[in-house]
Amino acid sequence: MSRDVPFDDNAICEECGAKGAYDFMGDCLCSECSSKYIEEECEETNEEFNERVVRQYGGATIRALLDIVKSLERRVEKLEDKI
Ligand SMILES: [Zn+2]
Repeated sequence: MSRDVPFDDNAICEECGAKGAYDFMGDCLCSECSSKYIEEECEETNEEFNERVVRQYGGATIRALLDIVKSLERRVEKLEDKI
């Protein structure tokens, strides 16, 4: 989140009606609702990230990475047996 979002003590949250809200370019959200909003945005960003990675590197690279992760997993499982 940008740190220069102004907080207005007298603004009313559009989501829950609480007094005191951040002004997101005209959309007023209290700190609780804005954190929910930001979490949703993060999920969206993850999906965008996935799409970008697939576009950028292609499925073959991602499958190769998955193979590496799986082989690491197997190694760690073997280590666990020894602990
Ligand atoms: Zn709220």
